[in-house]
Amino acid sequence: MEQYDVLVAGAGCAGLCAALQAARVLGAGRVCLVEKNGICGGTTTIGGINFPGIFHACGRQVISGIGWELVEQTRRESGNPLPDYLYEYPTTRHHPEFHIRIDATVFAALADEWLLAAGTVVKYHTMIGAVRDWQDGHLVTLCGKDGLYDVGAKVVIDCTGDANLTKMAGGKVNVMEVCQPGSACCYAVGYDYATLDFEEIQRNFEEAVKRGEIQYDDCGWGRFGKAFLWSHGHNANHINGINAGDSEGRTRIEMAGRASLMRLFRFLKKQKGFENLEFKVVAAECGVRETRTIQGLQTITVEDYVSGRVFDNAVCYSYYPIDLHDTKLRLVNQKVQEGLVPTVPLGALIPKGLSKFLAAGRIISSDRLANSALRVQATCMATGQAAGAAAVLAVQQNCEPSAVNLDELRRILLEHHAIVPKI
Ligand SMILES: Cc1cc2nc3c(=O)[nH]c(=O)nc-3n(C[C@H](O)[C@H](O)[C@H](O)COP(=O)(O)OP(=O)(O)OC[C@H]3O[C@@H](n4cnc5c(N)ncnc54)[C@H](O)[C@@H]3O)c2cc1C
Repeated sequence: MEQYDVLVAGAGCAGLCAALQAARVLGAGRVCLVEKNGICGGTTTIGGINFPGIFHACGRQVISGIGWELVEQTRRESGNPLPDYLYEYPTTRHHPEFHIRIDATVFAALADEWLLAAGTVVKYHTMIGAVRDWQDGHLVTLCGKDGLYDVGAKVVIDCTGDANLTKMAGGKVNVMEVCQPGSACCYAVGYDYATLDFEEIQRNFEEAVKRGEIQYDDCGWGRFGKAFLWSHGHNANHINGINAGDSEGRTRIEMAGRASLMRLFRFLKKQKGFENLEFKVVAAECGVRETRTIQGLQTITVEDYVSGRVFDNAVCYSYYPIDLHDTKLRLVNQKVQEGLVPTVPLGALIPKGLSKFLAAGRIISSDRLANSALRVQATCMATGQAAGAAAVLAVQQNCEPSAVNLDELRRILLEHHAIVPKI
């Protein structure tokens, strides 16, 4: 049977950083990364959300390390510019301007190169099927194309975005009763934005909504020109009312996402200026904003977040406004207090009651409003790297992740160019 020191479930932006950090310290063949798709990156690549943010705040860089280096090299290789205002104060600009556009294909291919160079055992097209206690760690059942098999791992890290591994292990999770909407992204081409008659399109849209041909949510907040058409179909529609944490929910949101795109396509084809409309690329998966979070040893509250609380076991910073996409076509948007940068404690990465277990990415232990800021990619990458480092120490020191030496943890993170809050 294959045995690993660390097994990471899910190769989204959090899982990638966790696996790279662990493999770069532990060496070849000791870290396994399991991913259900045939490409890494998760929401960043297959969800079409290739805008990681936010790495800079209050005039300085607050998140660095493996994730930032991956984003930076992707940007350099593909020739995307780095915005020159990153060192400005975020309050002077709208927060999405601090996201960094990257080429998703280059990002994924580069990540493959780095994973191979670090000696990570990557298993694409493989699902986590079950996990149970075994020896000092875990026995994880994987489902590959040829069927089921078990692997051993001393420490596991849940980076599934939906807390699937935590749930399978019997850990407690918070399930959102009403989730923020998902967004099915495409790349719409074949029209000239500058020449469109937005008033007419909006009028036609309102009438089509009344006739039941299209829905308000199909163009996000109901403003057609600014949302869907300006972004060319990127991150614009809202797929409401579905918790996509399991396969059943995933199936529903994928189908609802494509149905929304189809309504948009049919509507636009009837408008002036859209004779040559094409939905050139459709993201392979609907982007999912929230499903579940873990119940961790520590939970980050919105008060912690907006007051820039520096936890005494902080492993990274996080910076974003509270950004809850409400289902009633409303955006709850609240800024972090001027000059402050919130932090993430180690305890928010450790599911309560589970041994040799960590979690990272958008599922970290947090209340709903805090999570609406913590879920962005820069923070997911930083928590991934921190979880990877904590797993390394839990293996080396043969202890629980909650008992690792914090100075050692900070040392590993700093050695790998992360920014760790000063306590
Ligand atoms: C519409 C939308 C817009 C957004 N806009 C931005 C933005 O502009 N900037 C920004 O920084 N962030 C943005 N976000 C947030 C951000 O993209 C996500 O929260 C973040 O990418 C989540 O990363 P993750 O690694 O935690 O999870 P994911 O990206 O979901 O990765 C999880 C990975 O685990 C795999 N997986 C899941 N279950 C299993 C299993 N059982 N077995 C094996 N593999 C499994 C998945 O295939 C996936 O690859 C947006 C999100 C959405 C949905």
